Amino acid sequence: MERAGPSVNPFDTARRQIDIVADLIGINGGVRELLKHPKRELTVNFPVRMDDGSYRVFTGHRVQYNMARGPTKGGIRYHPQVTLDEVRALAAWMTWKCAVVNIPYGGAKGGVVCDPKTLKIGELERLTRRYASEIASFIGPEIDIPAPDVYTDSQTMSWIMDTYSMQKGYSVPGVVTGKPIALGGSEGRGEATGRGCAYVIREAAKDAGVRVKGGTVAVQGFGNAGSVAANLLHDEQGATIVAISDSKGGIVKPEGLNPHTVEEHKRKTGSVVGFPGAKAISNEEILETKADILIPAALENQITGKNADRIQAKMVAEAANGPTLPEADTALFQKKVTVLPDILANAGGVTVSYFEWAQDIQGFFWSLEEVNQRLERVMVRSYSDVRKVAVDKKVHNRSAAYVLAIQRVVDAMKTRGIYP
Ligand code: GLU
Repeated sequence: MERAGPSVNPFDTARRQIDIVADLIGINGGVRELLKHPKRELTVNFPVRMDDGSYRVFTGHRVQYNMARGPTKGGIRYHPQVTLDEVRALAAWMTWKCAVVNIPYGGAKGGVVCDPKTLKIGELERLTRRYASEIASFIGPEIDIPAPDVYTDSQTMSWIMDTYSMQKGYSVPGVVTGKPIALGGSEGRGEATGRGCAYVIREAAKDAGVRVKGGTVAVQGFGNAGSVAANLLHDEQGATIVAISDSKGGIVKPEGLNPHTVEEHKRKTGSVVGFPGAKAISNEEILETKADILIPAALENQITGKNADRIQAKMVAEAANGPTLPEADTALFQKKVTVLPDILANAGGVTVSYFEWAQDIQGFFWSLEEVNQRLERVMVRSYSDVRKVAVDKKVHNRSAAYVLAIQRVVDAMKTRGIYP
Protein backbone atom coordinates (compact mmCIF):
# COMPACT_ATOMS: atom_id res chain seq x y z
CA MET A 1 0.00 0.00 0.00
CA GLU A 2 1.47 3.33 -1.01
CA ARG A 3 1.68 6.39 1.18
CA ALA A 4 0.05 9.56 -0.21
CA GLY A 5 3.58 10.87 -0.80
CA PRO A 6 6.68 11.74 1.13
CA SER A 7 5.33 15.26 1.72
CA VAL A 8 2.73 13.93 4.16
CA ASN A 9 4.38 13.33 7.50
CA PRO A 10 1.98 11.50 9.86
CA PHE A 11 3.36 13.30 12.90
CA ASP A 12 2.51 16.65 11.26
CA THR A 13 -1.02 15.30 10.80
CA ALA A 14 -1.14 14.18 14.44
CA ARG A 15 -0.01 17.60 15.63
CA ARG A 16 -2.47 19.43 13.37
CA GLN A 17 -5.26 17.33 14.85
CA ILE A 18 -4.15 18.32 18.37
CA ASP A 19 -4.10 22.02 17.41
CA ILE A 20 -7.59 21.83 15.89
CA VAL A 21 -9.00 20.46 19.13
CA ALA A 22 -6.89 22.62 21.44
CA ASP A 23 -8.31 25.66 19.59
CA LEU A 24 -11.81 24.27 19.96
CA ILE A 25 -11.67 23.74 23.72
CA GLY A 26 -9.14 26.40 24.64
CA ILE A 27 -6.04 24.43 25.60
CA ASN A 28 -3.00 26.66 25.32
CA GLY A 29 0.49 27.35 26.62
CA GLY A 30 2.54 24.59 28.22
CA VAL A 31 -0.26 22.03 28.24
CA ARG A 32 -0.78 22.31 24.48
CA GLU A 33 2.97 22.11 23.96
CA LEU A 34 3.22 18.98 26.10
CA LEU A 35 0.38 17.31 24.20
CA LYS A 36 2.35 17.86 21.00
CA HIS A 37 5.51 16.16 22.29
CA PRO A 38 6.22 12.47 22.92
CA LYS A 39 7.44 11.85 26.46
CA ARG A 40 10.10 9.24 25.68
CA GLU A 41 11.65 7.79 22.55
CA LEU A 42 14.09 4.96 22.06
CA THR A 43 15.77 4.16 18.73
CA VAL A 44 17.86 1.02 18.45
CA ASN A 45 20.15 -0.23 15.68
CA PHE A 46 20.92 -3.90 16.00
CA PRO A 47 22.45 -6.79 14.03
CA VAL A 48 20.57 -9.89 12.97
CA ARG A 49 22.19 -13.06 11.62
CA MET A 50 20.53 -13.98 8.31
CA ASP A 51 20.00 -17.56 7.13
CA ASP A 52 22.90 -17.31 4.65
CA GLY A 53 25.31 -16.54 7.51
CA SER A 54 25.64 -12.80 6.79
CA TYR A 55 24.63 -10.03 9.25
CA ARG A 56 22.25 -7.18 8.59
CA VAL A 57 21.67 -4.11 10.71
CA PHE A 58 18.04 -3.15 11.43
CA THR A 59 16.58 -0.03 13.02
CA GLY A 60 13.69 -0.09 15.47
CA HIS A 61 11.84 2.51 17.52
CA ARG A 62 9.63 2.56 20.59
CA VAL A 63 7.88 5.80 21.50
CA GLN A 64 5.99 6.33 24.78
CA TYR A 65 3.85 9.34 24.04
CA ASN A 66 1.93 10.18 27.19
CA MET A 67 1.56 8.23 30.44
CA ALA A 68 -0.67 10.54 32.48
CA ARG A 69 -3.49 7.97 32.57
CA GLY A 70 -1.43 4.81 33.15
CA PRO A 71 1.19 2.53 31.63
CA THR A 72 1.64 3.12 27.91
CA LYS A 73 0.10 0.74 25.37
CA GLY A 74 0.39 0.18 21.67
CA GLY A 75 1.43 -2.18 18.94
CA ILE A 76 4.67 -2.87 17.10
CA ARG A 77 4.69 -2.74 13.31
CA TYR A 78 7.13 -4.26 10.85
CA HIS A 79 7.20 -2.31 7.58
CA PRO A 80 9.86 -1.05 5.16
CA GLN A 81 8.54 2.52 5.43
CA VAL A 82 8.51 2.81 9.23
CA THR A 83 9.96 6.15 10.37
CA LEU A 84 10.38 7.71 13.81
CA ASP A 85 7.78 10.35 12.92
CA GLU A 86 5.30 7.67 11.90
CA VAL A 87 5.84 5.85 15.22
CA ARG A 88 5.42 9.17 17.08
CA ALA A 89 2.10 9.79 15.33
CA LEU A 90 0.89 6.27 16.01
CA ALA A 91 1.91 6.62 19.69
CA ALA A 92 -0.04 9.88 19.96
CA TRP A 93 -3.08 8.22 18.36
CA MET A 94 -2.80 5.35 20.88
CA THR A 95 -2.91 7.92 23.70
CA TRP A 96 -6.17 9.40 22.42
CA LYS A 97 -7.58 5.97 21.54
CA CYS A 98 -7.12 4.59 25.08
CA ALA A 99 -8.69 7.77 26.46
CA VAL A 100 -11.73 7.64 24.10
CA VAL A 101 -12.63 4.14 25.29
CA ASN A 102 -11.61 5.14 28.81
CA ILE A 103 -9.15 2.35 29.57
CA PRO A 104 -6.39 3.14 32.09
CA TYR A 105 -3.47 3.49 29.69
CA GLY A 106 -1.31 6.07 28.03
CA GLY A 107 -0.18 5.58 24.43
CA ALA A 108 2.93 4.10 22.83
CA LYS A 109 3.98 2.52 19.56
CA GLY A 110 6.91 0.58 18.16
CA GLY A 111 8.20 -0.15 14.70
CA VAL A 112 11.04 -1.96 12.99
CA VAL A 113 12.14 -0.89 9.50
CA CYS A 114 12.06 -4.18 7.60
CA ASP A 115 10.15 -6.04 4.93
CA PRO A 116 8.79 -9.05 6.79
CA LYS A 117 7.55 -10.61 3.53
CA THR A 118 11.14 -11.14 2.40
CA LEU A 119 12.39 -12.51 5.73
CA LYS A 120 12.54 -16.22 6.49
CA ILE A 121 10.84 -17.41 9.69
CA GLY A 122 14.14 -17.89 11.54
CA GLU A 123 15.30 -14.41 10.52
CA LEU A 124 12.02 -12.94 11.72
CA GLU A 125 12.38 -14.73 15.06
CA ARG A 126 15.97 -13.52 15.58
CA LEU A 127 15.02 -9.97 14.55
CA THR A 128 12.08 -9.99 16.98
CA ARG A 129 14.08 -11.42 19.88
CA ARG A 130 16.93 -8.97 19.38
CA TYR A 131 14.57 -5.98 19.09
CA ALA A 132 12.77 -7.22 22.22
CA SER A 133 16.10 -7.42 24.10
CA GLU A 134 17.06 -3.93 22.94
CA ILE A 135 13.82 -2.42 24.28
CA ALA A 136 13.46 -4.79 27.28
CA SER A 137 14.35 -2.21 29.91
CA PHE A 138 11.87 0.22 28.37
CA ILE A 139 8.79 -2.09 28.52
CA GLY A 140 7.00 -4.15 31.18
CA PRO A 141 3.48 -4.84 32.49
CA GLU A 142 3.55 -1.69 34.63
CA ILE A 143 5.53 0.43 32.16
CA ASP A 144 4.67 -0.11 28.51
CA ILE A 145 2.84 -3.07 26.97
CA PRO A 146 3.34 -3.85 23.25
CA ALA A 147 0.84 -5.68 21.02
CA PRO A 148 0.51 -6.68 17.36
CA ASP A 149 0.13 -4.12 14.58
CA VAL A 150 0.82 -4.11 10.82
CA TYR A 151 2.64 -7.38 9.85
CA THR A 152 3.13 -8.62 13.42
CA ASP A 153 0.94 -11.25 15.09
CA SER A 154 0.51 -13.62 18.03
CA GLN A 155 3.73 -15.46 17.10
CA THR A 156 5.68 -12.19 17.24
CA MET A 157 4.17 -11.52 20.68
CA SER A 158 5.11 -15.03 21.87
CA TRP A 159 8.77 -14.41 20.98
CA ILE A 160 8.73 -11.05 22.78
CA MET A 161 7.08 -12.56 25.85
CA ASP A 162 9.62 -15.40 25.89
CA THR A 163 12.65 -13.13 25.38
CA TYR A 164 11.51 -10.75 28.13
CA SER A 165 10.71 -13.66 30.47
CA MET A 166 14.12 -15.29 29.85
CA GLN A 167 15.83 -12.05 30.83
CA LYS A 168 13.74 -11.75 33.99
CA GLY A 169 14.11 -15.42 34.92
CA TYR A 170 10.37 -15.99 35.28
CA SER A 171 7.32 -15.89 33.01
CA VAL A 172 5.77 -12.46 32.49
CA PRO A 173 2.64 -12.92 30.37
CA GLY A 174 1.45 -9.34 31.03
CA VAL A 175 4.39 -7.75 29.17
CA VAL A 176 2.62 -8.02 25.80
CA THR A 177 -0.95 -8.58 24.60
CA GLY A 178 -2.22 -10.33 21.51
CA LYS A 179 -0.56 -13.58 22.66
CA PRO A 180 -1.88 -17.04 21.84
CA ILE A 181 -4.34 -18.42 24.42
CA ALA A 182 -1.73 -20.98 25.55
CA LEU A 183 0.56 -18.16 26.78
CA GLY A 184 -2.06 -16.10 28.58
CA GLY A 185 -3.77 -14.57 25.57
CA SER A 186 -7.42 -13.62 25.75
CA GLU A 187 -10.35 -15.20 24.03
CA GLY A 188 -11.57 -12.83 21.33
CA ARG A 189 -8.38 -10.74 21.04
CA GLY A 190 -7.64 -11.99 17.53
CA GLU A 191 -10.81 -10.57 16.07
CA ALA A 192 -11.33 -7.69 18.51
CA THR A 193 -10.32 -4.81 16.19
CA GLY A 194 -12.69 -5.88 13.42
CA ARG A 195 -15.45 -6.81 15.87
CA GLY A 196 -15.21 -3.46 17.66
CA CYS A 197 -15.35 -1.71 14.28
CA ALA A 198 -18.47 -3.66 13.31
CA TYR A 199 -20.19 -2.64 16.58
CA VAL A 200 -19.40 1.04 15.99
CA ILE A 201 -20.67 0.83 12.40
CA ARG A 202 -23.90 -0.79 13.64
CA GLU A 203 -24.49 1.98 16.20
CA ALA A 204 -23.52 4.88 13.93
CA ALA A 205 -25.58 3.57 11.01
CA LYS A 206 -28.75 4.03 13.10
CA ASP A 207 -27.96 7.73 13.68
CA ALA A 208 -26.70 8.38 10.16
CA GLY A 209 -29.57 6.59 8.41
CA VAL A 210 -27.10 4.34 6.58
CA ARG A 211 -28.21 0.85 5.67
CA VAL A 212 -25.99 -1.98 6.85
CA LYS A 213 -28.39 -4.87 6.21
CA GLY A 214 -28.61 -4.95 2.43
CA GLY A 215 -26.09 -2.11 2.21
CA THR A 216 -22.77 -2.30 0.38
CA VAL A 217 -19.25 -2.22 1.84
CA ALA A 218 -15.77 -1.66 0.35
CA VAL A 219 -12.72 -2.69 2.38
CA GLN A 220 -9.22 -1.34 1.67
CA GLY A 221 -6.72 -3.66 3.38
CA PHE A 222 -7.50 -7.29 4.13
CA GLY A 223 -5.32 -7.98 7.15
CA ASN A 224 -6.58 -8.77 10.63
CA ALA A 225 -8.80 -5.70 11.03
CA GLY A 226 -10.25 -5.52 7.50
CA SER A 227 -10.97 -9.21 7.04
CA VAL A 228 -12.70 -9.63 10.42
CA ALA A 229 -14.79 -6.47 9.91
CA ALA A 230 -15.84 -7.71 6.45
CA ASN A 231 -16.72 -11.18 7.75
CA LEU A 232 -18.80 -9.85 10.65
CA LEU A 233 -20.65 -7.24 8.57
CA HIS A 234 -21.42 -9.96 6.04
CA ASP A 235 -22.34 -12.74 8.49
CA GLU A 236 -23.95 -10.89 11.39
CA GLN A 237 -25.29 -7.67 9.90
CA GLY A 238 -26.32 -8.80 6.41
CA ALA A 239 -24.12 -6.38 4.44
CA THR A 240 -22.92 -7.03 0.88
CA ILE A 241 -19.15 -6.76 0.49
CA VAL A 242 -18.57 -5.33 -2.99
CA ALA A 243 -14.85 -4.58 -3.04
CA ILE A 244 -11.73 -5.76 -1.19
CA SER A 245 -8.06 -4.90 -1.61
CA ASP A 246 -4.68 -5.73 -0.10
CA SER A 247 -1.14 -4.44 -0.61
CA LYS A 248 -0.98 -6.08 -4.07
CA GLY A 249 -4.25 -4.65 -5.47
CA GLY A 250 -7.99 -5.07 -5.24
CA ILE A 251 -11.12 -6.74 -6.58
CA VAL A 252 -14.65 -5.49 -7.15
CA LYS A 253 -17.94 -7.31 -7.71
CA PRO A 254 -21.13 -5.24 -7.34
CA GLU A 255 -23.28 -8.37 -6.80
CA GLY A 256 -21.24 -9.20 -3.73
CA LEU A 257 -18.17 -11.15 -2.61
CA ASN A 258 -18.11 -13.81 0.07
CA PRO A 259 -15.32 -12.49 2.32
CA HIS A 260 -14.57 -15.98 3.68
CA THR A 261 -13.95 -17.35 0.18
CA VAL A 262 -11.80 -14.31 -0.65
CA GLU A 263 -9.83 -14.95 2.55
CA GLU A 264 -9.29 -18.55 1.46
CA HIS A 265 -8.04 -17.33 -1.94
CA LYS A 266 -5.65 -14.91 -0.23
CA ARG A 267 -4.37 -17.68 2.05
CA LYS A 268 -3.63 -19.87 -0.98
CA THR A 269 -2.23 -17.28 -3.41
CA GLY A 270 -0.92 -14.55 -1.09
CA SER A 271 -3.38 -11.90 -2.34
CA VAL A 272 -7.04 -11.17 -3.06
CA VAL A 273 -5.94 -10.27 -6.61
CA GLY A 274 -7.13 -12.73 -9.25
CA PHE A 275 -10.18 -13.84 -7.28
CA PRO A 276 -12.40 -15.67 -9.80
CA GLY A 277 -15.43 -13.73 -11.06
CA ALA A 278 -14.29 -10.32 -9.78
CA LYS A 279 -12.83 -7.36 -11.69
CA ALA A 280 -9.44 -5.85 -10.83
CA ILE A 281 -9.34 -2.48 -9.09
CA SER A 282 -6.47 -0.45 -7.65
CA ASN A 283 -5.99 0.61 -4.04
CA GLU A 284 -6.76 4.21 -5.00
CA GLU A 285 -9.87 3.25 -6.96
CA ILE A 286 -11.33 1.19 -4.13
CA LEU A 287 -11.62 4.36 -2.03
CA GLU A 288 -13.83 5.94 -4.69
CA THR A 289 -15.83 2.86 -5.52
CA LYS A 290 -19.61 2.84 -5.16
CA ALA A 291 -20.49 1.52 -1.70
CA ASP A 292 -22.54 2.70 1.29
CA ILE A 293 -19.71 2.07 3.74
CA LEU A 294 -15.98 2.41 3.10
CA ILE A 295 -13.55 0.76 5.52
CA PRO A 296 -9.95 1.91 5.13
CA ALA A 297 -8.09 -0.89 6.94
CA ALA A 298 -4.55 -0.48 5.65
CA LEU A 299 -2.12 2.38 6.24
CA GLU A 300 -2.06 6.15 6.80
CA ASN A 301 -2.69 8.99 4.33
CA GLN A 302 -5.21 7.33 2.03
CA ILE A 303 -8.06 9.88 2.00
CA THR A 304 -6.57 13.24 1.15
CA GLY A 305 -7.61 16.69 -0.01
CA LYS A 306 -7.28 15.35 -3.57
CA ASN A 307 -9.65 12.36 -3.47
CA ALA A 308 -12.05 13.28 -0.61
CA ASP A 309 -14.51 14.83 -3.05
CA ARG A 310 -14.67 11.63 -5.05
CA ILE A 311 -15.55 9.39 -2.09
CA GLN A 312 -19.01 7.97 -2.77
CA ALA A 313 -19.57 6.20 0.55
CA LYS A 314 -21.99 7.67 3.10
CA MET A 315 -19.92 6.32 5.96
CA VAL A 316 -16.14 5.90 6.38
CA ALA A 317 -15.15 3.58 9.24
CA GLU A 318 -11.42 3.81 9.93
CA ALA A 319 -10.15 0.37 10.88
CA ALA A 320 -6.65 1.63 9.97
CA ASN A 321 -4.75 4.22 11.98
CA GLY A 322 -4.52 7.66 10.38
CA PRO A 323 -6.04 6.95 6.94
CA THR A 324 -7.63 10.42 6.60
CA LEU A 325 -5.85 13.78 6.43
CA PRO A 326 -7.34 16.81 8.24
CA GLU A 327 -8.26 18.62 4.98
CA ALA A 328 -10.15 15.51 3.89
CA ASP A 329 -12.02 15.51 7.22
CA THR A 330 -13.39 18.95 6.44
CA ALA A 331 -14.36 17.96 2.90
CA LEU A 332 -16.12 14.79 4.08
CA PHE A 333 -17.96 16.68 6.84
CA GLN A 334 -19.22 19.19 4.26
CA LYS A 335 -20.35 16.31 2.05
CA LYS A 336 -22.24 14.90 5.08
CA VAL A 337 -20.21 11.70 5.05
CA THR A 338 -20.19 10.13 8.52
CA VAL A 339 -16.58 9.44 9.50
CA LEU A 340 -15.97 7.00 12.33
CA PRO A 341 -12.48 8.04 13.36
CA ASP A 342 -9.67 5.53 13.93
CA ILE A 343 -9.32 6.29 17.64
CA LEU A 344 -12.91 5.11 18.07
CA ALA A 345 -13.53 2.71 15.17
CA ASN A 346 -10.44 0.53 15.70
CA ALA A 347 -10.26 0.80 19.51
CA GLY A 348 -11.70 -2.71 19.95
CA GLY A 349 -8.22 -4.18 19.61
CA VAL A 350 -6.65 -2.26 22.43
CA THR A 351 -9.81 -2.70 24.52
CA VAL A 352 -9.48 -6.47 24.44
CA SER A 353 -5.72 -6.03 24.94
CA TYR A 354 -6.65 -4.30 28.19
CA PHE A 355 -8.90 -7.27 29.07
CA GLU A 356 -5.99 -9.60 28.27
CA TRP A 357 -3.58 -7.67 30.50
CA ALA A 358 -6.14 -7.56 33.32
CA GLN A 359 -6.66 -11.33 33.03
CA ASP A 360 -2.87 -11.98 32.98
CA ILE A 361 -2.31 -9.88 36.08
CA GLN A 362 -5.08 -11.68 37.96
CA GLY A 363 -4.24 -15.09 36.49
CA PHE A 364 -7.98 -15.52 36.00
CA PHE A 365 -9.43 -15.95 32.53
CA TRP A 366 -12.77 -15.07 30.99
CA SER A 367 -14.99 -16.84 28.46
CA LEU A 368 -15.37 -15.59 24.88
CA GLU A 369 -18.95 -14.53 25.67
CA GLU A 370 -17.78 -12.41 28.57
CA VAL A 371 -15.01 -10.77 26.51
CA ASN A 372 -17.35 -9.97 23.63
CA GLN A 373 -20.08 -8.65 25.90
CA ARG A 374 -17.66 -6.35 27.67
CA LEU A 375 -16.19 -5.25 24.32
CA GLU A 376 -19.66 -4.46 22.98
CA ARG A 377 -20.48 -2.42 26.08
CA VAL A 378 -17.28 -0.39 25.76
CA MET A 379 -17.74 0.28 22.05
CA VAL A 380 -21.44 1.20 22.32
CA ARG A 381 -20.78 3.53 25.26
CA SER A 382 -17.76 5.15 23.61
CA TYR A 383 -19.63 5.74 20.35
CA SER A 384 -22.47 7.35 22.26
CA ASP A 385 -20.02 9.54 24.27
CA VAL A 386 -18.42 10.74 21.02
CA ARG A 387 -21.77 11.31 19.35
CA LYS A 388 -22.96 13.47 22.26
CA VAL A 389 -19.93 15.75 21.94
CA ALA A 390 -20.33 15.92 18.14
CA VAL A 391 -23.96 17.00 18.46
CA ASP A 392 -23.33 19.42 21.37
CA LYS A 393 -20.38 21.13 19.74
CA LYS A 394 -21.60 20.75 16.13
CA VAL A 395 -18.30 19.20 15.06
CA HIS A 396 -17.44 16.06 13.12
CA ASN A 397 -16.83 12.80 14.92
CA ARG A 398 -13.05 13.04 14.79
CA SER A 399 -13.01 16.38 16.54
CA ALA A 400 -15.57 15.07 19.02
CA ALA A 401 -13.48 11.98 19.80
CA TYR A 402 -10.40 14.19 20.22
CA VAL A 403 -12.26 16.59 22.51
CA LEU A 404 -13.30 13.69 24.71
CA ALA A 405 -9.87 12.05 24.69
CA ILE A 406 -7.71 15.13 25.07
CA GLN A 407 -9.93 16.45 27.85
CA ARG A 408 -9.47 13.17 29.73
CA VAL A 409 -5.69 13.22 29.25
CA VAL A 410 -5.46 16.88 30.26
CA ASP A 411 -7.60 16.25 33.36
CA ALA A 412 -5.19 13.46 34.39
CA MET A 413 -2.15 15.70 33.72
CA LYS A 414 -3.61 18.61 35.68
CA THR A 415 -4.79 16.48 38.60
CA ARG A 416 -1.38 14.86 38.91
CA GLY A 417 0.29 18.27 38.68
CA ILE A 418 3.81 19.06 37.55
CA TYR A 419 6.72 17.35 39.29
CA PRO A 420 8.53 18.64 41.31
N1 GLU B 1 -2.05 -2.11 17.16
C1 GLU B 1 -3.39 -1.98 17.64
C2 GLU B 1 -3.86 -0.54 17.55
O1 GLU B 1 -3.37 0.22 16.75
C3 GLU B 1 -3.57 -2.58 19.04
C4 GLU B 1 -2.75 -1.98 20.13
C5 GLU B 1 -2.84 -2.73 21.46
O2 GLU B 1 -3.61 -3.68 21.55
O3 GLU B 1 -2.10 -2.36 22.35
O4 GLU B 1 -4.78 -0.14 18.20
